[in-house]
Amino acid sequence: VDENGKELNVEDAHAKYLEYNEGRKDILVLDPDGELYGAVVLAAGWRPSKIEGEQYAHLGIDLPDVITNDEFEKIAAKGNIIRPSDGKEAKNVVFIQSPGKDEDDADFEYTGSVTSQVALKQARYVRDDYADGKAYIIYQHMRTPGLQEYFYKSMQQEDGVFMTKGAVTEVVQQGNGIAVTAKNTLLGENLAIKADLVVVASGMVPVTKDDPIINLAYRQGPGFRDNDIFGQYADSNYICFPYETQRTGIYAAGAIRRAMTIEESMEDATGAALKAIQCIESSNRGMAVHPRSGDMTYPDFFFQRCTQCKRCTVECPFGALDDDEKGTPKANPTRCRRCGTCMGACPERIITFSDYTIDSIGSQVKAVSVPSEDDYDEPPFRFLALICENDAFPALDMVGMNRMDYSPNVRFIPVRCLGSVNTIWIKDALAQGMDGVILIGCKHGDDYQCHFMKGSELAEVRVKKIGDALTSLALEEERVAFAEVAIDEYDKLPGIINAFVEEVEDLGPNPFKGF
Ligand code: SF4
Ligand code: SF4
Repeated sequence: VDENGKELNVEDAHAKYLEYNEGRKDILVLDPDGELYGAVVLAAGWRPSKIEGEQYAHLGIDLPDVITNDEFEKIAAKGNIIRPSDGKEAKNVVFIQSPGKDEDDADFEYTGSVTSQVALKQARYVRDDYADGKAYIIYQHMRTPGLQEYFYKSMQQEDGVFMTKGAVTEVVQQGNGIAVTAKNTLLGENLAIKADLVVVASGMVPVTKDDPIINLAYRQGPGFRDNDIFGQYADSNYICFPYETQRTGIYAAGAIRRAMTIEESMEDATGAALKAIQCIESSNRGMAVHPRSGDMTYPDFFFQRCTQCKRCTVECPFGALDDDEKGTPKANPTRCRRCGTCMGACPERIITFSDYTIDSIGSQVKAVSVPSEDDYDEPPFRFLALICENDAFPALDMVGMNRMDYSPNVRFIPVRCLGSVNTIWIKDALAQGMDGVILIGCKHGDDYQCHFMKGSELAEVRVKKIGDALTSLALEEERVAFAEVAIDEYDKLPGIINAFVEEVEDLGPNPFKGF
């Protein structure tokens, strides 16, 4: 957009793109000699984090013989371990794990079990170089998963290697050495060590923190969205989708996903490569990639009625919709993951899939019978639950399998994703006399579990907006609710449903019932 927030025309947007990507190849112009690729494995790696600032000041970071684990590795690669200040042998080396985060369970930024293993490995270098060498590892968290535990145990047995949990209180120059003091050690005593060299652990920062790396020609920008809520890691950061990014066909591997060892990165690269192959194969067959792999439908637009409102292009979580100069959506079927968010967003209701449409779910809503006074002296209430098929609906299944009770007055209609819920279904349900509608989907926010990243978040926004519309119709906004549930929290679902039912029952029946 320009300085007034107005969208740029195609030429100006291109000029802006070139300005942003100065010095890089203009990928918006197809190179006739270039090669086309169907998928990309992004393994752009990491850089060591910078150990600087007030929080590290007590660790003597300005002293020449206080270095990071990364700098230590470079010294080790050249030969024996020596001090940077005078090139003399460094036989007594202190390794500080969890710098600046002494008592904090979250540990320091961009760390992982790899940083613990690096400390153990580098202590080993000291012992290998000098028969009388001593390595001290002061840690808050020593993480050695799986077989690495054997390495940890072998280092515990090693003469000349001393390890303790503890908080480093001070690192200062003392004569031609460095004095390190620590408290709260495993032995309960304070510790004072005279060292030749101090090594401070630094985290592995994904390169996506500094630069979007991928330089995409998406209307939503050249990088991934939402990296800032995941510490700038490029992965989707959702446990079900390792390697997947929010950009279809781009799979992250290695330290760009989380701090990891070379061995783990190699395994990771295999996983990402398999996903990339799967992506090409699926696209060639006209099918969606994960999570709706195999789905052969795609969003179809009835363009004659499109008002160019751009809601679909803005809300598509995967950037699958571009728009032309007028704002008419231009679909990229191979980027599309068939979440239906565009269908939920479209106020004109002109987006459909061959097996999932406004009418198909609308017909299910209409088929829900609303008890009336014709059949009952006191007709029971009727509630509609639009429930996400990915986690919430299987959770409801588990509620049934575990024979847990909930209100019998609720009727459930599974949907692809809460993002695909069009507010017309809610309005129709209330208009036909149902007393309340609840949307049940996956968690969103930092620890989101939405299979389509944004679906439940968008649904909550839409529910809030519909609340205003209900108030204008003299209907209580509590009649439409939004709830999140994780698949392993199925036991909470009856409570969520019953609480909603009770709240609406307290309001009384829908006044539109029977009209
Ligand atoms: S179905 Fe989902 S991924 Fe595909 S265009 Fe619509 S919003 Fe985008
Ligand atoms: S949301 Fe519907 S009306 Fe708006 S631009 Fe997209 S297709 Fe057109």
